[in-house]
Amino acid sequence: MRDLTLRPSPISSTVDFLAEGVQHGFLRLPYSRDDSAWGSVMIPVTVVKNGKGPTALLTGGNHGDEYEGPIALFDLARTLKAEDVTGRVIIVPAMNYPAFLAGTRTSPIDKGNMNRSFPGAPDGTVTQKIADYFQRTLLPLADIVLDFHSGGKTLDFLPFCAAHILPDKAQEAKAFDLVSAFGAPWSMKMLEIDAVGMYDTAAEEMGKIFVTTELGGGGTATAKSARIAKTGVSNVLRAAGILKGAVESATTTWLDMPDENCFSFAEDAGLIEPLFDLGDQVKKGEVVARIYPIGRTGVRPLDVAAKMDGILAARHFPGLVKAGDCVSVLAVET
Ligand SMILES: [Zn+2]
Repeated sequence: MRDLTLRPSPISSTVDFLAEGVQHGFLRLPYSRDDSAWGSVMIPVTVVKNGKGPTALLTGGNHGDEYEGPIALFDLARTLKAEDVTGRVIIVPAMNYPAFLAGTRTSPIDKGNMNRSFPGAPDGTVTQKIADYFQRTLLPLADIVLDFHSGGKTLDFLPFCAAHILPDKAQEAKAFDLVSAFGAPWSMKMLEIDAVGMYDTAAEEMGKIFVTTELGGGGTATAKSARIAKTGVSNVLRAAGILKGAVESATTTWLDMPDENCFSFAEDAGLIEPLFDLGDQVKKGEVVARIYPIGRTGVRPLDVAAKMDGILAARHFPGLVKAGDCVSVLAVET
């Protein structure tokens, strides 16, 4: 249970979430530091409200080096008109704004990983204070939540929209309906390595319909991945009855991450040679990648073998790998 004696959030919003029309403003978090004694972190926010209807909470930049979400959401924030909306859309293109400004996964201020910081704390670090504001102020306003991710600098993914298997099957079915509507080339029934502290879990435990994405990676976006993100967010809003117009139909292939055998991790550091590319079929026992020791020549590389049959859905991105890095993720067609 949450501690009900928690102090109020230090974050104040310059937009009124109850007001009709389009508002652009900031979530202002006081942050006193060397270069600004009474300074603040200014997190951009847009709210578009028109009458009664459901609320969608749209977020990007949960990790600061993932760009499809911020591209789609900065674009949507500048173009969405109140008359095209029934209900309310709250847009935060860069949730962990300090990380987004630095181009890093975690915050340069406190090393906070936003997606491991929930439920957050109003008297914690900057990252924990932002998480607490989402936990206690923004998530309770929402009916549906779309949180954009991609692989960041260290992973690359097949472009997919995803939701989790949930104990509440009605909630799960609504989330998979929105995944379908998003219309990414791939759709995933997602398994988490470590769900504690995730925004996903916080939203799902509140009964919200939560969908997420992994739309590429490598610390950049492509024309294709940006297009998928922009089409996807409009489709989700249309499917939820918030945005006028019909969902653009698209063919998607459903994938499932059945158990932890889908993940392979490096047991040594070195130079990684991929033997399969994203989307390739891999058989159990086949070598997905080789890791060459780089201290000297003449040493056998370490083989990283697939622990199941599947499609390569994600891979390590940089050319050098460290012990413990995720090398590959396999998924199976459902
Ligand atoms: Zn992410």
